[in-house]
Amino acid sequence: MGEAPAFCNGNLQKEFANGNSLKSRRGGETATVVGDKTYVIEGSDVESTPLGVRIFDKSTAQWVHPVVLGTKPSACKGHSAVLLNEDRILIIKKGASPDDCTWFLELDTQYVRDQKTMRGGNTEVVAWSKGVRGKAEKPVVISGPSGVGKGTLISKLMDEYPSLFGFSVSHTTRAPRGMEKDGKHYHFTEKSVMEKEIKDGKFLEYASVHGNLYGTSIEAVEVVADEGKRCILDIDVQGARSVRGSPVEAIFVFICPPSMAELEKRLRARGTETEEQILKRLQNARAELEQGILSGLFDHILYNDKLEECYQRLKKLLGLDGSVGAAPKPVSRGIDLPVDHSVSKLDNKIIIDCGTPELEKASKNLIVLDVSCLNGGAPGRTRGLDLYAIDSFSDGLKEIR
Ligand code: ADP
Ligand code: 5GP
Repeated sequence: MGEAPAFCNGNLQKEFANGNSLKSRRGGETATVVGDKTYVIEGSDVESTPLGVRIFDKSTAQWVHPVVLGTKPSACKGHSAVLLNEDRILIIKKGASPDDCTWFLELDTQYVRDQKTMRGGNTEVVAWSKGVRGKAEKPVVISGPSGVGKGTLISKLMDEYPSLFGFSVSHTTRAPRGMEKDGKHYHFTEKSVMEKEIKDGKFLEYASVHGNLYGTSIEAVEVVADEGKRCILDIDVQGARSVRGSPVEAIFVFICPPSMAELEKRLRARGTETEEQILKRLQNARAELEQGILSGLFDHILYNDKLEECYQRLKKLLGLDGSVGAAPKPVSRGIDLPVDHSVSKLDNKIIIDCGTPELEKASKNLIVLDVSCLNGGAPGRTRGLDLYAIDSFSDGLKEIR
């Protein structure tokens, strides 16, 4: 039997049970009570050691070391913890950079429940997800047979709107073509390495295509959204189906060739595949076209006969034809969180008291973190955080955005 935590009694426990503001204790630890379990998040002063998690289960009086999934937050000068919706803990790191200060430890979300089930149901699982301000635009999934012109259309879009779109760099086990760069066109990888990462839950989707393994890592999509850009995925129909079945909401576009003869001409003219590979790709194209057109999987089907005309139609469906307000806008970054603070919770708002003693700063010492519109979550980022300052010295409280 493990030793009961010192903080698991008296008023402090009541305070935790209410989901109220939790103060850092015992060298940066916080404790959050959910039912019979007390989740202890262990601080760390050592840069290379991330925050740790252990659970005290009152029903068995045992300490449990859970399986901790996701990227763990790095060490910081203490942290605050607030329980949200009984299913996740919001962590606000002290002294962290603005893009690294908000994290979520998921305790009982759908993802965590699925992961527990996968492990037989008796293993404790928690998952970290980094909090990010603002919403991400819906990703655009582009599919179509090899040689139809997906890459050409995507390049045109990225060249014309470099600040609006970012490419999801897939992983593949196929060899690079002459001009292809690792990390830019693909992450070229060993099959065994990719299979291990798939098993570790790092991929949004993956499929065997023309004899090689291809996949979109969760990180590939998240880094594009982090830049405030809309993510474009060039993936096959199997991958598109997987994304459809995932929590990611996307727009699905299928590109068709004007004819099989034209597709063959384009594939051969590209000159990047051997004769054997060309034949394999052409053979697969028939099934892909059938699925693409008949499955109802895709929101839009575009015929790429004349390149420029097809490109204009693609722009139109993405709201880039001049329609006011339709085009995606880069995400606004808002204001920075303070280095030091204390926190409390009011409904869906976390009040962060920066405690600036100087008079001239005193009018802006309250910051509100609005968590009412969260979306996403582990194994990716948690988006939709909104942050604004409150002017507490004017006529009542006033937002300063
Ligand atoms: P994918 O990415 O779908 O495999 P690519 O973008 O590499 O296809 O295009 C295959 C080849 O077809 C390239 O050489 C490209 O220049 C050419 N191509 C693309 N669209 C057209 C078009 N509308 N008309 C003629 N050739 C095209
Ligand atoms: P290529 O070898 O010509 O670059 O790509 C071959 C096929 O693999 C294309 O249909 C392309 O859309 C698909 N593909 C590329 N990346 C991914 C990926 O990450 N996932 C899936 N499912 N398919 C991909």
